[in-house]
Amino acid sequence: MGGTFDPVHLGHLCCAEQVRDACALDAVLFLVAGTPSFKRDLAVTDAAHRVAMCRLAVAENPAFDVSALEAARPGITFTVDTLRQLHAHYPENVELAFIVGADAALALPEWKEADALAGLAEFIVMSRPGSSLAAADADRLAQAGFRIRPVAPSALDISSTEVRRRASCGQSIRYLVPDAVRDYVLAHKLYRKGDS
Ligand code: ATP
Ligand code: MG
Repeated sequence: MGGTFDPVHLGHLCCAEQVRDACALDAVLFLVAGTPSFKRDLAVTDAAHRVAMCRLAVAENPAFDVSALEAARPGITFTVDTLRQLHAHYPENVELAFIVGADAALALPEWKEADALAGLAEFIVMSRPGSSLAAADADRLAQAGFRIRPVAPSALDISSTEVRRRASCGQSIRYLVPDAVRDYVLAHKLYRKGDS
């Protein structure tokens, strides 16, 4: 499951668990993006913080793990490179599925090396409040060669943008993020106005 995770929130965790269950996945790896190409103009929190928060968030779920593979790669992050690295890392019989929100999935044909990308994994597309994959969009992705599996988790209407906004003005983020993540955000004074 790729994401910026700035910060990871209960929407991510709840969806990941429901997708894992629905698709009978052995594990979900949270791939913390370095500098995502489409967010390169935005100020994104240091990857080390984002990875640390993800590690805290997944600690209690034995089927969840965090990868700093993308965060460690210098420059802009491209999923096609990551999937190639993961294929090289795991035994040949391991099948990879890339979990992505419907909002992000719409742009898959524009991602780097889309043709190659489509062959490297199945794409599990989660609907999220305000965005689901319409039949026409699924057709368009299939025509571009993507193997799509839509999943509709009973998602929580939480976004990192909203968590950052609340934290920036001192509002509570309790129950939006795991307690350990909230403690981390407070201890490191993340997302405070004027701080980066
Ligand atoms: P931001 O508001 O900063 O974009 P975000 O909440 O969208 O943050 P990302 O790190 O961008 O979080 O998301 C990682 C992946 O999780 C994306 O594929 C996104 O669509 C999906 N996602 C995020 N929040 C939810 C949610 N509440 N329900 C379902 N999917 C979600
Ligand atoms: Mg997002």
